Amino acid sequence: MKRWTCYVCGKDVVEGQLFTFTNRGAVHLSCLQKSMGPKLYRSSTDAALFELVMFANEGIVKVKNVEDLIEDEEVKKLALEFRKSLEGFAARLTNKLVERVGA
Ligand SMILES: [Zn+2]
Repeated sequence: MKRWTCYVCGKDVVEGQLFTFTNRGAVHLSCLQKSMGPKLYRSSTDAALFELVMFANEGIVKVKNVEDLIEDEEVKKLALEFRKSLEGFAARLTNKLVERVGA
């Protein structure tokens, strides 16, 4: 299992947790939310953007959890593609959030 260190709390970041990467490295989403603090709620756009980042990352974890249950290769491939597209969106949404609010 891959692991990193969260640049906010200094604890391990492991697969299965809600986390993302910014230009500063790996960070738990709850830690990112704390470090952005009130800046996140200055605009409803930024608050909404953070929600979207959460949804995308929750989706990634959920898809990962069901991938192992899938025995059909074609369905497995679909699930993988779905997760990859969520990962792509998670990265784009996080980049936009960091661009607007700062990491
Ligand atoms: Zn953390």
